[in-house]
Amino acid sequence: MKKVQDYIRTIPDYPKPGIQFRDVTTLLSDAKGFRKAVDALVQLHVGAEIDMVAGIEARGFILGGAVAHQLGKGFIPVRKKGKLPWETINQEYELEYGTDTVEIQADEVPKGANVLLIDDLIATGGTAEAAVKLIGRAGGNVLGASFVIELPALAGRARLEAYDIEVLSLCTFDGD
Ligand code: AMP
Repeated sequence: MKKVQDYIRTIPDYPKPGIQFRDVTTLLSDAKGFRKAVDALVQLHVGAEIDMVAGIEARGFILGGAVAHQLGKGFIPVRKKGKLPWETINQEYELEYGTDTVEIQADEVPKGANVLLIDDLIATGGTAEAAVKLIGRAGGNVLGASFVIELPALAGRARLEAYDIEVLSLCTFDGD
């Protein structure tokens, strides 16, 4: 039987030499693969004390939206800069070269809400950490962060665990 990992396509040297791009579009476009991944993410959190699910643009929207629906929770889109129409709060984070910014709308997170964060992949953890800080500043509390793919070589897990967040992933790949 095919595992979640088997639906993921690896594209060498994308977007630059040396990076193995782990492409989840091949998982999302396969009915069984998509369902398997969403079901597995949902199973990790059934019965957990979660009030809302947040997903990181863009692949985290597809997976996180499906997880939120299955868990019967509301969804918070963590967007890239400049896309949201209402008052926003933003959080900058470091990239290998330069910085990037994620945003949510100021009133999207109810005070004290326990939030589950979802994205397709955790590498260095910088993007997820920015989302954690943002949700915290908005009054929420990220309890868990779950990913389809983890790249353990880049140690993103430790970065989130430092905030007392439970980090879970469905599969791992070697290298970066
Ligand atoms: P990071 O902030 O380093 O944990 O990077 C995580 C974000 O970058 C996620 O939103 C991923 O979609 C993307 N990303 C980083 N590395 C890869 C990779 N090797 N393959 C596919 N996506 C990646």
